[in-house]
Amino acid sequence: MAPSYQKSRAMFEEAQHYIPGGVNSPVRAFKSVGTTPPFIARANGSRIWDVDGNEYIDYVCSWGPLILGHRHPAVIHAIQRCLERGTTYGAPTDLELTLAQMVCEALPSVEMVRMVNSGTEATMSALRLARAYTGRNKIVKFEGCYHGHHDSLLIKAGSGCLTHGVPTSPGVPEDIAGSTINARYNDMELLEKIFSEAGNDIAGIIVEPLAGNMGVVPPANGFLEGLRELCNKHGALLIFDEVITGFRLSYGGAQAYYNVMPDLTCLGKIIGGGLPVGAYGGSREIMQMVSPAGPVYQAGTLSGNPLAMSAGIATLEQLQQPGVYQELDRRSALLAQGMAQAARAAGVPVSLNRVQSLQCSFFTKHPVTDFASASTSNTNDYATFFRSMLEQGIYLAPAQFEAAFISTAHTDNDIERTVEAAFNAFKAVAE
Ligand code: PLP
Repeated sequence: MAPSYQKSRAMFEEAQHYIPGGVNSPVRAFKSVGTTPPFIARANGSRIWDVDGNEYIDYVCSWGPLILGHRHPAVIHAIQRCLERGTTYGAPTDLELTLAQMVCEALPSVEMVRMVNSGTEATMSALRLARAYTGRNKIVKFEGCYHGHHDSLLIKAGSGCLTHGVPTSPGVPEDIAGSTINARYNDMELLEKIFSEAGNDIAGIIVEPLAGNMGVVPPANGFLEGLRELCNKHGALLIFDEVITGFRLSYGGAQAYYNVMPDLTCLGKIIGGGLPVGAYGGSREIMQMVSPAGPVYQAGTLSGNPLAMSAGIATLEQLQQPGVYQELDRRSALLAQGMAQAARAAGVPVSLNRVQSLQCSFFTKHPVTDFASASTSNTNDYATFFRSMLEQGIYLAPAQFEAAFISTAHTDNDIERTVEAAFNAFKAVAE
């Protein structure tokens, strides 16, 4: 029997009267997969349930924070213990000290860290700091990388050799967009050209060391090392946006996984254990410029929020257990193999990228190495696939260009069920 989404549909209808598009973040509206979103009632482990009582195996995991799955007992317990002491004080606590120490110990390039409330705030603040430190204005970003929704980074490629950015949203001033240069992921040649023309004006390069916002696109051999060298040569800062990859690719993030050290690192998601958080950090020399130690202003009413710090600490403690990342990798490999086999059996060309517990099946026969190749995916096929998976109780990202997140709560049995459903969904695409 086809699942009913009656209550969700009624809620979505009503929500659109009060909330723009009915959602508080655009992708949640399911626009690009041609259906409407289930409203979620509760979650546990690898599962979520909607208000109509449908159960799903969840591969969105709140877009990455829930590497331990939903309601991990250690995280819930830490939040409950913290609640007994209050919810926020706007004053320093032992919890922010503990989490800061854990982050600095984990990430090889980070000696000091400042907590904020979202990934957007982290990248926005890191850019300000990079500009202040270098005394330069221009920022290089890569097409297909997402760093949050502040003005400097809501940019796509403009025309012209230097690919000066143009706003991707009305309301972003053109002169701000003009300070952002748009480059191509994994294309060192273009970058060298950009630096040879504008190197003296470039404050920094911001990059997702493994791109997770155009599906999953790993850095080509030598790409991150090339960025490091270019920044060294031209006196620019290398900023790794590890909002997804931090504590995801390894306990030391992408920088430890690929062994390339940035000057600044942006974090979010996992370090808040499912509560709102962000952070940016780097060497003592650079971070000492942040107020009140230095002149670069940045602040936040709820920054370092005790509940978020507690959930983050509990999450990182779990991730310190031996074998966690090997096990995540094993399960993720199992899913990737199953998905690839199911696609082949159904005769649907799919290009699958996977690194550790992140993966994406692109509906294209081309290898995906950058935004242009990711864009060869057939998004209508993805939408058909997605809707079939949803009906079979598998909750994937409601857009092609997103990662599937594997958590420690996903069992081999969950993965088997997912692969069985995927075979049916690929067949629906092939029809
Ligand atoms: N950076 C990356 C790599 C992200 O994936 C995201 C969000 O998904 C952000 C920054 C922005 O984080 P937030 O949504 O917490 O503002």
